Amino acid sequence: MIKDIIKSLPGYNCGKCGCSRCDDFAEELLRNNKKILDCSVLSFEEFKDNRLNIEKVLENNPNTIAYNEKIIGLIDSYQADITLDPIDGSNSCTEVLLPTSNHKLRINDIVKYRPLGCPIIHFARIVEINGLLLSVHIIGPENRITNSVDKSIDIGPCIIIAFHGKYKGKNIKVGETIRFLPSHCMMQKVHSGVVVNIENNNVIIEGIDLKVWDTPKTY
Ligand code: SF4
Repeated sequence: MIKDIIKSLPGYNCGKCGCSRCDDFAEELLRNNKKILDCSVLSFEEFKDNRLNIEKVLENNPNTIAYNEKIIGLIDSYQADITLDPIDGSNSCTEVLLPTSNHKLRINDIVKYRPLGCPIIHFARIVEINGLLLSVHIIGPENRITNSVDKSIDIGPCIIIAFHGKYKGKNIKVGETIRFLPSHCMMQKVHSGVVVNIENNNVIIEGIDLKVWDTPKTY
């Protein structure tokens, strides 16, 4: 997709858009940090077709919910860069937990825990165990009265280490600190973290924090 944009840019690398190279401007367009006419060269009549081509690419960008549609958390009105959805029919994106207690646990066990920084008790199914870390899919609290959740093991407070899911929204980069909204989050609260891996539309985010280090904004 970025190649289609670069193909239609003037290629002058003149810096008038605030980027030193047209390639960087293409990236900024995909991230919605620049508008097409920030490149003043594209406003010339001879670049009309190029402009239309770029508009078309941006309209069809599958990674973008819609360039001007904003993802806003309900609790504190922060704007997120992406939403995070389950991969392949799971109940939720994957959360990786570090429990603060010591229990003998197995894959498929249902655990009850409170993520540190979140007031809500979660219920989740363990899908992977890696040393002390548990990868889980959230199944409640909506389902807390079902049999499976009644048999849950209370593991108390847990540190949330990572999220893994399918993302929609801005074009993000490995190494970038982003704000994201897990679609299953019962508080619809924006989280922050660092992107450590992207493959197709799947992303791994680590260094999770419920603080996003900014002033709440009204959009
Ligand atoms: S103003 Fe246009 S031509 Fe100049 S560097 Fe930016 S994108 Fe390239």
